Amino acid sequence: MDRTEPAMGKDQYSFENPVTRYERVDPPEQRQPEPGLDRDLRPVADHGEESYRGSGRLAGRRALITGGDSGIGAATAIAFAREGADVAISYLPEEEPDARHVLSLIEAAGQRALALPGDLKDPDYCRGIVEATVAEFGGLDILVNNGGKQVAQDSITEISDDQFDDTIKTNVYAMFWITKAAVPHLPPGSTIINTTSIQAYQPSATLIDYATTKAAINNFTKGLAQQLAPQGIRVNAVAPGPIWTPLQPSFGQTMEKLTSFGQSTPLGRAGQPAELAPAYVFLASGESSYIAGETLSVTGGEPTP
Ligand code: NAD
Ligand code: MG
Repeated sequence: MDRTEPAMGKDQYSFENPVTRYERVDPPEQRQPEPGLDRDLRPVADHGEESYRGSGRLAGRRALITGGDSGIGAATAIAFAREGADVAISYLPEEEPDARHVLSLIEAAGQRALALPGDLKDPDYCRGIVEATVAEFGGLDILVNNGGKQVAQDSITEISDDQFDDTIKTNVYAMFWITKAAVPHLPPGSTIINTTSIQAYQPSATLIDYATTKAAINNFTKGLAQQLAPQGIRVNAVAPGPIWTPLQPSFGQTMEKLTSFGQSTPLGRAGQPAELAPAYVFLASGESSYIAGETLSVTGGEPTP
């Protein structure tokens, strides 16, 4: 099957009621060890495998996406490839099965795929993935800082110093290390897209370390956008609301919140990763040429400032 074309006659442009476009995610109780696999997520999530239709919006571009093996990063990787970009994905070595699925779809779209397993908490790895992408693709013009760690705890007294450190390292330091290494390679017209969260504005009581990093990512985005705009590099962010990904059952939510995940949004359901990809494509492509320092909320209607 030609995976570059949707199989079911539906694509991201279909005119549909957003409430019922996807069945409400009603997850059974489940737990996975961190970082969790899309392969084992129930119900399975949609990354646009059968629906995302490309139209050359990123032709010839070269992208690096952290956390590109699963969830939002996977949907973005598939969409970028179908829009004509070569795509490198970073992920943890234990996520190889999910990564292989995404890498095969990038290649099925006729683009180059680069696998970059390793740990974002390691500054040498972060610098290395930029150099490896540039070496393999002959340059870099789209960077998506999307990898992230989220572990819910009911009380601050249960957040170990190691958890606090690991969450900030993964979500904030890695973005700094990767971006710092990437900027000297980025030609005018390049874009950086950081994944923040509705948690930047509406922190859950159970996610105080994680939510703190998402506020930091939002702030970093807006400051750096001003610094790099004169060089023709645009920096923006996407703020997802509740999206059905392996982050959630791998201790990202308490079990109580997991089993009703996303149901209190105005649209009444959790979002699918496939519903995030168009936001990343828009911010990566020249269509958004006058947008910098913006956070695009994809929250199912939850208000953001
Ligand atoms: P996900 O689990 O599919 O993606 C997170 C990825 O982060 C993992 O696949 C993993 O590859 C990577 N990662 C984590 N720790 C790492 C480490 N030490 N080294 C290398 N890679 C590491 O879940 P997702 O929900 O798609 O998350 C993607 C981004 O979206 C994250 O930044 C997350 O905070 C953000 N986000 C998610 C939601 C949601 O509801 N799912 C909401 C708002 C923001
Ligand atoms: Mg993963």
